[in-house]
Amino acid sequence: MNRFSYLRAESVEGALAALAADPAAKIVAGGTNLLDLMKYDVEQPSRLIDITRIEGLDEITQSERGIMIGALVSNTTIAYHPAVAENFPLLSSAILAGATPQLRNAATAGGNINQRTRCYYFYDAALPCNKREPGSGCPALEGVNRNHAILGASDDCIATHPSDMCVALAALDALIHIAGPQGQRTIPIAQYHRLPDGSPERDTTLGADELVIGIEIPAEARRFMGNHTYLKLRDRLSYAFALVSVAAGLQMEGDTIADARIALGGVAHKPWRRPQAEEVLIGRAADETSFAAAADVLLEGAQGRKHNAFKIELARRAIIRALGQAAAGTPQSQSDKRIA
Ligand SMILES: Cc1cc2nc3c(=O)[nH]c(=O)nc-3n(C[C@H](O)[C@H](O)[C@H](O)COP(=O)(O)OP(=O)(O)OC[C@H]3O[C@@H](n4cnc5c(N)ncnc54)[C@H](O)[C@@H]3O)c2cc1C
Ligand code: SF4
Repeated sequence: MNRFSYLRAESVEGALAALAADPAAKIVAGGTNLLDLMKYDVEQPSRLIDITRIEGLDEITQSERGIMIGALVSNTTIAYHPAVAENFPLLSSAILAGATPQLRNAATAGGNINQRTRCYYFYDAALPCNKREPGSGCPALEGVNRNHAILGASDDCIATHPSDMCVALAALDALIHIAGPQGQRTIPIAQYHRLPDGSPERDTTLGADELVIGIEIPAEARRFMGNHTYLKLRDRLSYAFALVSVAAGLQMEGDTIADARIALGGVAHKPWRRPQAEEVLIGRAADETSFAAAADVLLEGAQGRKHNAFKIELARRAIIRALGQAAAGTPQSQSDKRIA
């Protein structure tokens, strides 16, 4: 671990000024991802800017527009907050599928959406990795790539984004609120995380001098509260990252699908969503034929490698199962996990 200095920011303006003053500084919130990466020498910030004492960022507020989740609200608080659990249960379910209670108590909303990939080569500072050191190479292309991407990858990087919460946020069309030197701006979540393209070192479109201050869920996403599921498939039934996950929300009119949202986790550098797959479902019966048609569109162009080709069929089956559970109004339970 490198030597670093520490600053406790008292305000958003103070944190932004500290970021502007030192391009090698990093924001720390819960620290559950950043401190691990520092111990592995993957991240080497010159200064940690602790934002946990900034007032006002640890609140969830409700309005006609929807809900605003402050960047410092813990994952536990989000999952169990009545405004989230009642109106956007898909988000609660996705959060409860991740990590452990202890980690969720410490992890914050801003930290979760900015957490970095779990690619094992990325974590091993002795090996090359284009995400750590641009131009050094990607050992995962020919190495052990069981957890890696089947969609949207490039020859520069085939890592996946690990967050469960972000998959639900993608399906709910969340907006990321950002503060920066020029003032505040908002980015739709679909444009927040990046595909690797030629610069995999950049995970998001957040500027190095900017700070996430909150996440907004628009009220119109309430229409999926009755028919939704977060289905997470992984090597163990808990405390494991997703091989494939599906966030599905349906708006039903009788047996007909009036509207649909589907996002996949564990398959790409960002939560994977393709609106054409949702359009396929609109106006159709909620049956396996419709779900399979949507899965085909969502997975179009999927490319497997030596160890992860199985994920294509796994994802297809997961989409069909998740849409079936959503249509039936029997969401996947995150506390009672069984293999059916
Ligand atoms: C053992 C283990 C298992 C896990 N399992 C899962 C899992 O199954 N599913 C899952 O989704 N996650 C899982 N996680 C990841 C966990 O959810 C993240 O570590 C956590 O959400 C990060 O939040 P944090 O507040 O601790 O972030 P930090 O570690 O403080 O920060 C993470 C990154 O975000 C940046 N950052 C933090 N806040 C802001 C902000 N407001 N604006 C801009 N940048 C910011 C930091 O600079 C840093 O780069 C696991 C973690 C561990 C250690
Ligand atoms: S997949 Fe991406 S993160 Fe993993 S080794 Fe290759 S470049 Fe690095």
